[in-house]
Amino acid sequence: MHDLIIIGAGPAGLTSAIYAGRARLKTLVLEKLGVGGQISLTETIENFPGFPEGINSFDLIEKFKKQAQVFGVEIKMEEALELDIKEKIKSIKTQEQVYQTKSLILATGAQPKKLDIPGEKEFSNKGVSYCATCDGPFFKNKEIVVVGGGDAALEEALYLTRFAKKVIILHRRDKLRAAKILEERAKENPKIEFVLESIPLEILGQNSVTGIKIKNVKNNQEFILNCEGIFIFIGFKPNTDFLKNIVKLDEEGYIITDENLTTSKDGIFACGDCRRRPFKQIVTACSEGALALHSVVKYLEEK
Ligand code: NAP
Repeated sequence: MHDLIIIGAGPAGLTSAIYAGRARLKTLVLEKLGVGGQISLTETIENFPGFPEGINSFDLIEKFKKQAQVFGVEIKMEEALELDIKEKIKSIKTQEQVYQTKSLILATGAQPKKLDIPGEKEFSNKGVSYCATCDGPFFKNKEIVVVGGGDAALEEALYLTRFAKKVIILHRRDKLRAAKILEERAKENPKIEFVLESIPLEILGQNSVTGIKIKNVKNNQEFILNCEGIFIFIGFKPNTDFLKNIVKLDEEGYIITDENLTTSKDGIFACGDCRRRPFKQIVTACSEGALALHSVVKYLEEK
């Protein structure tokens, strides 16, 4: 019997775990892929306090993990497949076994959104990518199109200039959504070009990507950008499909909570990118992880 099970070992889940360990709760973290969540999609973190020179994303998440383990938290690479929450004691089934817990934190994160245009699926891993850190080195001296105008698109476009000959940022509006500092850096980078007010229509290729067909939304003209790589950074979708009948979700699948991060079900809390939140940052995910744990402690004391 655990006091707490945390599903998801990204910054939110691991921060809950650190606080849970220090609160002396018998805590288990379940993670289906690998610790870090979306942190592992990026290379260097420059805006996490305490690291003025920036920190490698892998090193940061390893520190989170070690810090949780120092306080006695167990972390297992098992996917939570089914939840039974009818009783006060909740059961979580993985491929390996059934775990029981008095409380639960959902920190399942999110995954990259897809464009849903012809060619995207077909050329996935054949030129289409959602991870610059993973796939950037395959595009040495090649031309790349980055789709999106947010922080992720600009940050990753800048990273990709280390490898690519040219990086075109394709954005559907005339204004970028990204932080000004990223916009300035991208505009100063001689390898980066912008194609604005244009939407992607189709990814083209034979065995691998050769280009992308786009449409200018102002004059409706269609044209082709030749490229060998297309990196898509257009936001995220919460990993909550398996929670549909467990807790209340909003229309886009984000877990609905109150201000203390309590979900619609007693004893179940949620934090991080599986909730709708205005500013998805590592530091805000950590802050939610701490708050979710605070609510767990109060819940366990009261019940
Ligand atoms: P985002 O901020 O939601 O931006 C998504 C971008 O993709 C927007 O520019 C959007 O255009 C565009 N887009 C969405 N759907 C599209 C479609 N179907 N076709 C074409 N373009 C589409 O997502 P994000 O950049 O992944 O960032 C997510 C969160 O993580 C944000 O809160 C961000 O601040 C944070 N983040 C922070 C950092 C950092 O601080 N270093 C790094 C990465 C991410 P519109 O602008 O027209 O909506």
